[in-house]
Amino acid sequence: MNAVAHPKAQAIAALVAAMPEGTILTLDDDVARYSRDWSGDHYARPLAVARPHSVDEMAALMRCCHLEGIPVVPQGGLTGLVGAAVASRPGGEVVISLERMNKVRSISGIDFAMVVEAGCILEEAKRQAEAQDCILPITFGAQGSCRIGGNVATNAGGFNVLRYGMTRDLVLGLEVVLADGRVWNGLKVLRKDNRGYDLKQLFIGSEGTLGIITAAALKIFPRPTQVETALVGLGSVEDAMALYARARRECSDLLTAFELILRGGIEIAINARDDLKDPLSQPYPVYVLIEASAAGRVDLKGLLEEFLAGAGDLVLDGVVAASRSQGDRLWLLREMMVEAQGRGGRYLRTDVAVPISSLAGFVADALAALEKAYPQALAVTYGHVGDGNIHLNVVPPKGMGAEEVEALFHAAEEVIFDVIDRHGGSISAEHGIGRVKQKAYLARADAVSLELAGLIKDALDPSHILSEGRILAARPAAARGD
Ligand SMILES: Cc1cc2nc3c(=O)[nH]c(=O)nc-3n(C[C@H](O)[C@H](O)[C@H](O)COP(=O)(O)OP(=O)(O)OC[C@H]3O[C@@H](n4cnc5c(N)ncnc54)[C@H](O)[C@@H]3O)c2cc1C
Repeated sequence: MNAVAHPKAQAIAALVAAMPEGTILTLDDDVARYSRDWSGDHYARPLAVARPHSVDEMAALMRCCHLEGIPVVPQGGLTGLVGAAVASRPGGEVVISLERMNKVRSISGIDFAMVVEAGCILEEAKRQAEAQDCILPITFGAQGSCRIGGNVATNAGGFNVLRYGMTRDLVLGLEVVLADGRVWNGLKVLRKDNRGYDLKQLFIGSEGTLGIITAAALKIFPRPTQVETALVGLGSVEDAMALYARARRECSDLLTAFELILRGGIEIAINARDDLKDPLSQPYPVYVLIEASAAGRVDLKGLLEEFLAGAGDLVLDGVVAASRSQGDRLWLLREMMVEAQGRGGRYLRTDVAVPISSLAGFVADALAALEKAYPQALAVTYGHVGDGNIHLNVVPPKGMGAEEVEALFHAAEEVIFDVIDRHGGSISAEHGIGRVKQKAYLARADAVSLELAGLIKDALDPSHILSEGRILAARPAAARGD
């Protein structure tokens, strides 16, 4: 197949000339797998795909893009859920894939730190940490596909935030190639460093808009020798939150996950796979998946069992996994629910946060508002409630037309976000803003925050060639010189 003739053919020629052979892909067949994200909702053929091998090659690439005014978008594993990593204008952006910069540069069990290139798949980085009897605690369903650079650029969360924090809390240092090709070397494993501004924080969660992250120094932790998992059934979200408050006190800092699933989610999981059975003796309105972990001679199982036995006023039924494989089966319910919730079609994903004390109130208010406005739609509710983070997703009724679905998503999102506003929450707990949440974000952000954000963007990317139109609105075409 031939390369498409493109008005920016000259730009492509400049890139091909600046980079080693094989770095720039332009053929339809070659760029196809960089054109669609995991959700399938976002697709655009990029102008070209660049795949540098090293920070020097990345710097040369960005110098060329800067000189030629070529818009780019960095890309990790394409699992981001806000449409930010695929080209925004068909044929208008060069995708920069980090996939060839995928090495673990170093691991130290004394510094409890690892230095990882941005294109390393999260699961591989975790595997290499485990080989040193340590853990890299970032853990979530997409870990087999997402890449470290994407995790840092989205400030990813996941199941273990409760104990170890968001990705931001785990980053000790970064190496970043700036929009004009300069390299900012902030790659260090120091635990304490108060010299001036903490510049790495600007790039964490910046969704590719301020620089290309090429490597990260990350905290790792001693590997727990014991992990205990329990699933309990409760009467209400209020009871789940009361249980959480007690668990924080009685299980000390050993809790690593506290996941809420409403009954509908359990039904989705058990209907999706024949080998998954209803996990407790009867259905309950609310379930919580609890995990605790420890190293050393703590009687972790005894602690968890004693805690649950003492919570008989809240816990209606429950099971503590007898083995690791039983624990994995309990987690499978959570994973299958996420995978199967859309019934193979599109659904509205939300990823919101409220103060933990408001969580039960938020869920009740949001579900009531959705039921009133869209009784025909299915609301699926689950979340990392120890972090006040809820995913309240909306599945359209079967057979609904594409335009109606779009209108439903838009209106249902506003219903949920209105409730979030009333509870003093955030419309994005983990996934970021990208393009999908931009309108809602801009409508809610205060003027000073937006002004500061604009100043930072202009300072780091004066020509606006980096991921233009994500988080902040795109600068008008005339100002960009398109
Ligand atoms: C099944 C599933 C479960 C998920 N669960 C969670 C969860 O529990 N918690 C959570 O936080 N997220 C979750 N996500 C969302 C997603 O996996 C994370 O946002 C992840 O961190 C994205 O990584 P990625 O490599 O796929 O990035 P991509 O999707 O490729 O990119 C995401 C953003 O980062 C930018 N970017 C990528 N690499 C770089 C780089 N090197 N330098 C600068 N910018 C870059 C992109 O331009 C884009 O803006 C889930 C996704 C799926 C599909």
